[in-house]
Amino acid sequence: MQFQSNICVIGNGAVGKAAALGFAQAGLSVTLLVPPESRGGETLLPGGWDVRVYALNHVAHDLLSSLKVWQALDAARVAPVDAMDVKGDGEQAGKLCFDAYGARTGALAWIVEDSNLSAALDAALKFAPNLRIVTGRATGMLQGAGVSLDNGDSIAAPLIVGADGAQSWVRGQCDIGIDYRSYGQQAVVTNFECEKPHHGTACQWFTSTEGIVALLPLPGQRLSLVWSAPEALAQTLMSESPAQLAERLAALSAPQFGQLRPVQPELVKAFPLRLMRPHSIVAPRVALVGDAAHVVHPLAGHGMNLGFADVAALVKAVVERETHRDCGDERVLGRYARMRKEDILLMQLATDGLERLFSADFEPLRIVRNLGLNLVNKLPVIKRALISQAMGKRQ
Ligand SMILES: Cc1cc2nc3c(=O)[nH]c(=O)nc-3n(C[C@H](O)[C@H](O)[C@H](O)COP(=O)(O)OP(=O)(O)OC[C@H]3O[C@@H](n4cnc5c(N)ncnc54)[C@H](O)[C@@H]3O)c2cc1C
Repeated sequence: MQFQSNICVIGNGAVGKAAALGFAQAGLSVTLLVPPESRGGETLLPGGWDVRVYALNHVAHDLLSSLKVWQALDAARVAPVDAMDVKGDGEQAGKLCFDAYGARTGALAWIVEDSNLSAALDAALKFAPNLRIVTGRATGMLQGAGVSLDNGDSIAAPLIVGADGAQSWVRGQCDIGIDYRSYGQQAVVTNFECEKPHHGTACQWFTSTEGIVALLPLPGQRLSLVWSAPEALAQTLMSESPAQLAERLAALSAPQFGQLRPVQPELVKAFPLRLMRPHSIVAPRVALVGDAAHVVHPLAGHGMNLGFADVAALVKAVVERETHRDCGDERVLGRYARMRKEDILLMQLATDGLERLFSADFEPLRIVRNLGLNLVNKLPVIKRALISQAMGKRQ
């Protein structure tokens, strides 16, 4: 069977689903290709909390609202971030604090579970006009424009959107080179209940020997841990009991959050961390979005946010094209690449630079970076620029 549409989106992560929705709601016909082994968001035990959570910024919020997805989230499971505390390490640890009041906004970001986001996107997909979901695995690019599938079917479309994650098959078909750097770290994630209220504060500790520890607020007195730990430490954290993990964390966080108690002791996961910079996010009749287009360190919590910003830009470039151009026209894709260039480069440089700066175990550098944190904390103009960046807004 041959399916025909204006756009074929390959990949059913949150970014791929948002892209399919964006195009379909704009009146374009869309085929969303999902792999046979894919499943929906994680099924949670009653009272359980997903250990995969995202800090979504204002760009993500605006896109998801325009797609009517934000309204479909289970609001009781979304935690607004009212303040952020960033701390250095050592005896003279520096500190940088932001809050929503100072930024004249309702929330700096929102913490959303993967399962909540996925369920809301799936609900919106059910009602999307012009959208067909096809299950299959793409095996080759068609000469004209489109892909052939392993079951003999094909999808013809003037634009292929590669939303198939960090190991993107689509990117591989386009001969796009890639810069790759492993951080030699794994992000260990799990959830805790905390003795003291967190007041919507997200905390992050930059340490030179133990990596970067982030505790993000969840609804109620719960916190989500993202510990970007050097490989050996990550192995140790994974082999220890969650109670031991809680004890380690108490050393950093005890005065603020009190005792920590694992929410679901069996649920601790680890993700390898790397920087991936494809040399281009477009190729003839192909646009990459999300992790297919860039993988950054999660220290700033921005991979998904960048992906949603890609979707907003690509839908805009395609919808606003001249009438004589089709969706995959070279000029249209060139505009998309230009719209995203600065934002992606800035985030790659910022996350990579911060990781390098804080992972160096060198006392003079430790002193300088702690002083730097304190200094920035006292400079309102720079602080405002950083808040805008964190929220996904331009100054
Ligand atoms: C520990 C950790 C914490 C993070 N925290 C944050 C955060 O707070 N905020 C934030 O913004 N980002 C965060 N990120 C980054 C974020 O998780 C990713 O950027 C985001 O999940 C990427 O989404 P995606 O849809 O592009 O890719 P994926 O989620 O990887 O989805 C790709 C999809 O493509 C499908 N697929 C793969 N191959 C094929 C194929 N050949 N054909 C069809 N389909 C295919 C897969 O089944 C998958 O569903 C974090 C990352 C980590 C590791």
